Amino acid sequence: MHELTLAASLLELIEQHASANGLSKVVRVHLTLGALAAVDEQALTFGFEVARRGTVAETAELCLERVAGRGACETCGVEVALEARGGACRACGTPCWKVLAGDEMRLSAIEGV
Ligand SMILES: [Zn+2]
Repeated sequence: MHELTLAASLLELIEQHASANGLSKVVRVHLTLGALAAVDEQALTFGFEVARRGTVAETAELCLERVAGRGACETCGVEVALEARGGACRACGTPCWKVLAGDEMRLSAIEGV
């Protein structure tokens, strides 16, 4: 379950941001999560709850901001909303999409005191 690893590195990043900003306690963590990031939200939330123990974010709330997937066909250039990777282009049948948006997982902001 790679979400546990993701949550652990997320917490590392949060602690770095918190100390850089002089925060002693993080109350909210905003995370941008793309629909194509292949991250299971429940597993990530669980991993976060485990990984945050004993850190500045021990009681922090995790706010997920979802980004829809968007891709462009590599052959004909048509742009479509992507809900998952894979599948063929409806216009030309090419099974190759260049992902334009939605494959990211990014710490967008932290709030603390
Ligand atoms: Zn195409």
